[in-house]
Amino acid sequence: MQDRGPFLEAAAAILGQRGLTYDPELMQPWLTDWRGRFTGQALAMASPASTAEVAALVRLCAEHRVPIVPQGGNSGMSGGATPDGSGSALLLSLRRMDRIRMFAPAAREAVCEAGVVLQTLHSAAEAQNLRFPLTLGGKGSATVGGLVSTNAGGTQVLRHGSMRAQVMGIEAVLADGSVFSALTPLKKDNRGFDLKQLLIGSEGTLGIVTAATLRLVPALAARAVLWVGVPTLAAARELLLFCEENAGDALEGFEVLAQDTLEDVLAYLPGARAPLSGAHGWHALIELAADHAAADDLPDRAESLLSRAFELGRVEDATIAASETQAEAFWAIREAIAPAERARGPAVQHDLSVPVDRMPGFVADAVDQVERAWPGTHAVAFGHLGDGNVHFHVIAPPGVDAGEWQAGPGKAISRQVHDLVTRWEGSISAEHGIGQLKRDELSRLGDPVALSVLRSVKQALDPLGLLNPGKLVPLAPAGHNP
Ligand SMILES: Cc1cc2nc3c(=O)[nH]c(=O)nc-3n(C[C@H](O)[C@H](O)[C@H](O)COP(=O)(O)OP(=O)(O)OC[C@H]3O[C@@H](n4cnc5c(N)ncnc54)[C@H](O)[C@@H]3O)c2cc1C
Repeated sequence: MQDRGPFLEAAAAILGQRGLTYDPELMQPWLTDWRGRFTGQALAMASPASTAEVAALVRLCAEHRVPIVPQGGNSGMSGGATPDGSGSALLLSLRRMDRIRMFAPAAREAVCEAGVVLQTLHSAAEAQNLRFPLTLGGKGSATVGGLVSTNAGGTQVLRHGSMRAQVMGIEAVLADGSVFSALTPLKKDNRGFDLKQLLIGSEGTLGIVTAATLRLVPALAARAVLWVGVPTLAAARELLLFCEENAGDALEGFEVLAQDTLEDVLAYLPGARAPLSGAHGWHALIELAADHAAADDLPDRAESLLSRAFELGRVEDATIAASETQAEAFWAIREAIAPAERARGPAVQHDLSVPVDRMPGFVADAVDQVERAWPGTHAVAFGHLGDGNVHFHVIAPPGVDAGEWQAGPGKAISRQVHDLVTRWEGSISAEHGIGQLKRDELSRLGDPVALSVLRSVKQALDPLGLLNPGKLVPLAPAGHNP
C-alpha cells in the first residue's frame, strides 16, 4: 500500500482544518448510499470551500494518482456517490460550497454553487417571486451539483423538462485541475462541441461541477391539484392524453400509483388520509399550474376539465384539493412512496422509460412475467407517466434476508426487467443515472457503438481514470483499448 501521508499533508495545506477529515465517525454517514445498497471506504473526506480549492485539490490528486468520488447530498439512487471498498479514493464533498453567487430576477437566472440544496433554491426563488421549476422527493438533500451531474428529473418534467433544460451555464473543474468556466447564459452558442451538455448527466466521471447558472420561471400564482381514480393504467394513459388536449400548457405534472402502493404509504405516513373514499385500480395525481396572467380562471378550468372527464367516463372518482394544505397532503403521499417502501423491507428498484403510449402494455407484461418467475414477490410501478418513466420496484417475499435476496434473486430479477425494457425499446435509466448499480447492465445491454463513444470521451477528458472510477462508464472489452 502506498504511503498517502505526503498527499494528505498537501491536501490539508490546501483545504485547511475544516476542509479535510479522516475521522471515521464524521465520514461514516457519507459512505453508504441513500438506499443502503452500497457501502465503501475513503482515504479521507475533503470539503473545499471554493472553486480554487477544488482545482488545487484535483491537481494534487492527479499528481499523486488519487481517485476522486464527488458527492453532493448523497441522495442519488444508483450508488454513484459511494466509493468502493478499497479506501483508496478521496471523497470530495461539495456541500460546503453552498452560496447562491448571483440572483438576477429580471433575467430570471441564478448562479448557484454546487452545494446549494434544492429546497434552499426553491425558497430563494420564491422570495423573489420566481420559481425553480424542478422538484423531487429528495429536495431537502439533493444539491445543484448532484442534480446537474445526474440530469435529474422529478415531477415537473412534463412541462419544464429535466435538469438539462434548466442549466444555462456551468463551471467545472476538469481532471487536470483546469477550470472550465461557462457560466454566462448564452441562448445560442455554436462554437463546436458543447462541453456543458457533456458534463450534465456525467455523474462526476468527466469533471467536478462547482457552479451552474440556472433558469427560473415566474412564480406560480395558482395551482389546482387533482386526485383521480381510474380502473387501469391504460385508463390513466387515456386520461393523460385528455388532459394534454384540454388543459394545454397548464398541465404541470401527471403521476400515477396503484391502489396497493397508496395503501402502503397510508400505513407509513403519520396522519395521511386517502384522497378518495373508495378503492381504484390506479390513481393519478395531476397538477395544473398558472402564472399571474392565467391564474384567475384556473379553478374553473380544473373544474370543467374534471366534469368533462366524468361525462366521458374517463374517471371513476376524483377530487380537487380544496386548499394549499390539502394540495401539499396529496403531494406528500406521492413523495412518501420511496421512504415507505424502504421502511417496508428489501426490494429491487428500476427506473425505466418506454415511449409513453407503450407504458400500460409494458407494465402489465413486466408485472406478469416477474411475479410468475419469482413467486412471493410483488411488483409495483409508479411515477412519472407523463414522461413515459415509471419506477418499477419488485418487493421481496416476506421474511427473506435483505442482503442475500438482493445479491441473488434480486440481481436476477433486475436482469430480467432490464431485458424486458430493452425488448420494449426503452431505457434502463430514465432519470437516476447509471452509477455503480447499473454499470454492468449498461455494458451488457447498451448499444456497442454508443458504449465505445462513451469510453472514448472518458479517455479524452480523464486519461488517468481518476474521476469517479467504477461508475457509469463500462470497462472496455478484454484486449480492447478505448
Ligand atoms: C426520496 C427521494 C426521491 C427522489 N426522487 C427523484 C426523482 O423523482 N427524480 C430524480 O431524478 N431523482 C430523484 N431522486 C434522486 C436524487 O435526489 C437525485 O439523483 C439527485 O440529483 C442527486 O443529488 P445529490 O446532490 O444528492 O447527489 P449525490 O447523490 O451526492 O451524487 C449523485 C451523482 O452525482 C455525482 N456528483 C454529485 N455532485 C457532483 C458535483 N458537484 N460534480 C460532479 N459530480 C457530482 C456523484 O458522484 C454521483 O455520481 C430522489 C431521491 C430521494 C432520496
